[in-house]
Order: sequence, then structure tokens, then C-alpha cells
Amino acid sequence: MGCFWHRHEGCRYATTPLTRPGFWKRKFIANVKRDQFVQHELLSGGWRVAIVWECALRKLDLVPEVTKCVEEWLKSDDPFLELGEARF
Ligand SMILES: [Zn+2]
Repeated sequence: MGCFWHRHEGCRYATTPLTRPGFWKRKFIANVKRDQFVQHELLSGGWRVAIVWECALRKLDLVPEVTKCVEEWLKSDDPFLELGEARF
């Protein structure tokens, strides 16, 4: 999931452009609301949700660790996973 567009909380890539602040604020709020709705709908429907943030995949040396975390999650019963670079 893209850190900028989907507003990865506390992430250095979730910057806010200085121009057209009202536009960006509305855009970001709508994106986050939609993401929350979709996640809620999926979890409510019995699906499992894994979010791998863009920042976790930017450094190639982290990719094996991210892959391992996802693999372990897939084998678990945990319904939700969220991975960002801060985790590694
Ligand atoms: Zn991020």
C-alpha cells in the first residue's frame, strides 16, 4: 500500500504537499476512510487482511524479512497483519 496516498501513519513517506492544502486534505481523508471501510468489510466477511506498506519494500535487503513475516502470518490464525519499515 502506498505510504503517501494511503497516509501511512507516522511514516516519513506520508508527506503533505504545500500547494492546494484543502484538495490534499479531502483526498487523503477520503482515501483513509475508504481503506478503513474496505478493511472492515473484508474482516467482517471472514477474510484475512495483510497490509504491506511501500516503505517496508523500498530497501531490497528488507524484502526477505518482509516475505518471512507474511509467510508466518499466512500460517497463523491472525486475521490482520500490517508491516511497515518501522517493524524491521
Ligand atoms: Zn510507510
